Amino acid sequence: MKVELAKSAGFCFGVNRAMELVEKQIALGKSEPIYTYGPLIHNEEVVASLEKKGVHVCESNAEDKCPIVNENGGRGTMILRSHGVSANTEKHLKNLGFDIVDATCPFVKRIHKTVNEESKAGKHIIIVGNAKHPEVEGIIGWCNEPPFVIENIDEADRIPYAKDEKVCIVSQTTFNSKKFKEIVDYITKKGYDINVVNTICNATEERQQAAGELAEAADCMIVIGGTHSSNSRKLYEICAQRCENTHFIQTLDDLHLELPKSVRLVGITAGASTPNNIIEEVQNYVRNEF
Ligand code: SF4
Repeated sequence: MKVELAKSAGFCFGVNRAMELVEKQIALGKSEPIYTYGPLIHNEEVVASLEKKGVHVCESNAEDKCPIVNENGGRGTMILRSHGVSANTEKHLKNLGFDIVDATCPFVKRIHKTVNEESKAGKHIIIVGNAKHPEVEGIIGWCNEPPFVIENIDEADRIPYAKDEKVCIVSQTTFNSKKFKEIVDYITKKGYDINVVNTICNATEERQQAAGELAEAADCMIVIGGTHSSNSRKLYEICAQRCENTHFIQTLDDLHLELPKSVRLVGITAGASTPNNIIEEVQNYVRNEF
């Protein structure tokens, strides 16, 4: 029996990088506190294990409650998550006395740069995405004037700009590329003078595609991810459609596997906030026990 891990399972590049930056800060062994500005990822176990290593979660707007820890008014290190934050938030945190470690994903940073430059050059900015998502809140904060955020075609009818004004369109990194294209096509047909910068990151799509392909070939599929994680549930749906014998687990403890002798290939994939050690553990278990 073969056990195969799907390509692009687990953390994406940006989250991996953020985790590495946090580990580097821990390794420095500083006496002053380390915070992340909001939970680093949507995985309680990872957050709890970081807490044990002295990395505390500072919820947004709770930053002024963090104590001053040195005579220079410093409050320790604040790590910005891969989602990024607005320019004002970053400035505010610096002014409060935090040393900033910026773990914003470079793909998100690129959007900050684009909207900042384009809006300074006089263009209106349209962001395709969810206005309440922290990544979009951060992007909004890099625009020189308030942008227009749009999530579906209906909202395109409410674009407040004149047709002869220049507009730059970007998207939230995790937005669905098909929907993005539909919205852009619709706006283009309305006759706006637009410049489109497709800022969708393929990490999610690649993970889903690789999981689907593996599930197609597998006799049994294991999806590891948080039950509240929408990207993990989506992975489960994709795999379950292609492989009847698909299991959705959070950790190895949830896995109660019985594999008939006829099983030739067990596939494993994992959601975006599943750490590598859990993936390894599950892989080793299946390899060694069956
Ligand atoms: Fe991950 Fe892509 Fe988001 Fe970066 S932009 S954090 S690589 S999903």
